[in-house]
Amino acid sequence: MQNIEPNMIMKEELNLDWANLPFGYVPTDYNVRCYYRDGKWGEIEVSTSDTINIHMAATALHYGQEIFEGLKAFRGRDGKVRVFRMEENAQRIRRSAEGLCMEPVPTEIFCEMVRKAVELNARFIPPYGSGASLYIRPLEIGMTPSVGVKSATEYLFMILVSPVGPYFKTGFKPTNICIMREYDRVAPKGTGRFKTGGNYAASLKSGNHAHELGYSAVLYLDPRDKKYLDECGPANFFAIKNGVYITPASESILPSVTNKSLMALCEDLGIKVEQRHITVEELAEVEEAGACGTAAVISPVGEIDDIDTGEKYIISADGNPGAVSTRLYNLLRGIQLGEEEDTHGWNTVIENI
Ligand SMILES: *Cc1c(COP(=O)(O)O)cnc(C)c1O
Repeated sequence: MQNIEPNMIMKEELNLDWANLPFGYVPTDYNVRCYYRDGKWGEIEVSTSDTINIHMAATALHYGQEIFEGLKAFRGRDGKVRVFRMEENAQRIRRSAEGLCMEPVPTEIFCEMVRKAVELNARFIPPYGSGASLYIRPLEIGMTPSVGVKSATEYLFMILVSPVGPYFKTGFKPTNICIMREYDRVAPKGTGRFKTGGNYAASLKSGNHAHELGYSAVLYLDPRDKKYLDECGPANFFAIKNGVYITPASESILPSVTNKSLMALCEDLGIKVEQRHITVEELAEVEEAGACGTAAVISPVGEIDDIDTGEKYIISADGNPGAVSTRLYNLLRGIQLGEEEDTHGWNTVIENI
C-alpha cells in the first residue's frame, strides 16, 4: 500500500450533481487506515488506493469478524464543516468490537481518523443547500488467517468517505413498511446490539421480499416472542402515541445515535419519552411513526401492514408526515447544518476546510 503525506496541492473544484447523488459509493481522493499488529495499533496511514490486501483465510472473510459505523459531515450555511456526534460512533464500534471478540479501536484514533478522512477529502463535502452530505464509513476487520474458528490477532481499521445525495429526493414523505414473521434478522441475545455486516446479510432475504411486495422496509419483531416491535432493518423505530415519543426497549436492536438524539431533543421540547416494549397491536393507537438513522434522520411511516394477520395499521391517512416527526426532523437537521443552536455540543467543527 502506498503511504503518502497529506499534500497541500490545490485540487480542482468538483462539479458533481450533488442533489442527485445516490446513496452509493463515489470514489474520493483518500482513505485512512490503521493496523493492529503485535499487540498494538500502528501509525495512521493515508492511502489513495480503494482496494485492500487481505489474506484469503482472514477471519473477516470466513467467520464474519467485521464491524462498521456510519456518520456524516455537513457543510453549514456559515461555511463550516461539522461532523455529528463522532464520539458516540467511536464508543459504539468499541462495544461492537467487544461483542465480536475483536480489538477495540481507541476513541482518540477513531476521532483523529475521522477528522483526517474529512479534511483530506474536503472537496467531496457537498455544498450547503444541496441537501447532500459526506457519508463517513469506518470499518474494522479481522485480518489473521485462520481455518479454525477463533478470533484474529491482527486487525485493520479503516475509514472511507463518500458524498451522498439527499435521502428524500422527492420530499419528506411517508412510506409503507411491513411485518413478516417468516424471517428473523438476529437472535434474542445475539448480535443485534452490534453493528456487524452479518446482521445485514441476514436481513437481505426478508428485505428483498418486502421490496417485492412494495414496502420500503421490514419492521422486525422481537425474535423470541414475536410480540413486540424491534427495529426496521437499518434503522430504529419510534412512534408518537398520545403525544409521547415511544421507542422499543430491546436487547436485539442496535442503539441508534439518531434515536438517542431525537430522545434528547424530545426532552428539550417537553415531549415525554418512553423506551419500553411496544406490542404490534399498539400500532392501532399511534398518531405518527418513523424509522430513524443517520441516512435519513427520520423516514416517516404511512402504513404498517402485518403480512401474517392481514391487519393494516394506517398511521398517516393524508399521506403527510406528522407534526412531531416534522418538528424533530427539522430541528435535528438544523443542528447538523449549524442553523439551530447546538446546545448539547454534538457537532465537531473541522477547521480550515
Ligand atoms: C446503523 C444502524 C441503525 C441506525 O443507527 P444510527 O446511529 O442512528 O445511524 C439502526 N439499526 C441498525 C441495525 C443499524 O445498523
